[in-house]
Amino acid sequence: MRLKNIEMMDIVIVGKGPAGLSCAITARMRGLEALIIAPPKTTSWLAKTEQIDNYPGLPKTSGADLLAAFEAQAREMGVTQREGLVRQILPTDNGFMLLVESDVIETKTIVLAMGAARPQLLPGEEELVGMGVSYCATCDGMLYRGKRLGVLSASEEGAEETLFLVKLAESLDYFSLKKHETNVLPVTVKVIGEQPQSLRREAGSIVVTTKTGEHSYDGVFIFRNAVSLGMLLPDLATEGSFIPVDRGMRTNVPGVFAAGDCTGKPLQVAKAVGEGNVAAISAAEYLAAH
Ligand SMILES: Cc1cc2nc3c(=O)[nH]c(=O)nc-3n(C[C@H](O)[C@H](O)[C@H](O)COP(=O)(O)OP(=O)(O)OC[C@H]3O[C@@H](n4cnc5c(N)ncnc54)[C@H](O)[C@@H]3O)c2cc1C
Repeated sequence: MRLKNIEMMDIVIVGKGPAGLSCAITARMRGLEALIIAPPKTTSWLAKTEQIDNYPGLPKTSGADLLAAFEAQAREMGVTQREGLVRQILPTDNGFMLLVESDVIETKTIVLAMGAARPQLLPGEEELVGMGVSYCATCDGMLYRGKRLGVLSASEEGAEETLFLVKLAESLDYFSLKKHETNVLPVTVKVIGEQPQSLRREAGSIVVTTKTGEHSYDGVFIFRNAVSLGMLLPDLATEGSFIPVDRGMRTNVPGVFAAGDCTGKPLQVAKAVGEGNVAAISAAEYLAAH
C-alpha cells in the first residue's frame, strides 16, 4: 500500500453527524486543532430526517437544515474537514494513525462519531483482507495490473471508484451488494446480476459464490460507505454493534473516545450532541495530562 500526506492533529473526529460536529465545535472552543473526516456524500442519519420536533429551541426543523447549521458553525469556528472513509486506525508511539483512502493522518486523540450504520460482512471476507481482498482502489489497484478482478460495491461511489481499476485490469466483473446505478461503468465491465454470498480462497484465487454459481478472480475489491468496528480498530471493545463508554465517553483504548449513536441507544440528536460535547472535553483533558 502506498501512503502519503502525513499530518499531526490534536483530535480527529470520525463522522460528520450531530455527534461529530458538536465534538468539533467544543474542541475548537478548547483551542484544539480539530479535523473532522466523513465520506463526501452525506450519510448522517440526521440528513434523512424530514422533521425534528424534540431538539430544544428549534421545533419543526428539517434534519437537513439542522445538520447544515451545525456544519456552518463548525466551519466558522475553524474546524478542518476532510472527505473520505476512515478505513483503519493503528496505534503509534505518539497517538494514532488513521488510514483514509491512500493517505495517513496522525493524531494524538480520536473521537469515533460514526453513527449506528454497520456493514454486513460476507462470510469469509474478514479472513481474506490483505490476501486478495482490498477496500481501496487507489491504494492497492496497481498490485493487480493485468489481472482478473471482481468488484463488490454497495453504491454509485463504488461504481466510480471501479473506473480506476478498469484501466488496470485484464478483465473486471461487477457485483452490486445493494441496488444502485451502474451506468458509469464502460461496456467492457461485466455486470453480474446476482448477489455475492460468500468469499473463499482457492488455489491462489479468490472465489465469489452467488446463488447459482462461483466466480474466480486474482483480486476482489469491496466498496461500502462504512467499515465494521472490528476492522476499524481491532483492540476496541464492542457490545454487539455499539461501543461501550464511561461517563467521559472514554472507550477501553486510552486516547480514543466515542459519541452519538455508535455508543448505543437512545438514538437521538440531543444525546449525540451532548455526548460529542463531553467527548471533546475529555479529549482536551487527556491531551493536557499527556
Ligand atoms: C428517519 C429518521 C428519523 C429520525 N428522527 C429523529 C427525531 O425525530 N429526533 C431525534 O432526536 N433523532 C431522530 N433520528 C435519529 C438521529 O438522526 C440520530 O440519532 C443522529 O443523527 C445520530 O447522530 P450521530 O452523529 O451519532 O450519527 P450520524 O448522524 O449517523 O452520523 C454518522 C457520521 O459518521 C460518518 N461515518 C461512518 N463511518 C465512517 C468512517 N469509517 N469514516 C468516516 N466517517 C464515517 C457518516 O458518514 C456520518 O457522517 C432519526 C433518524 C432517522 C434515520
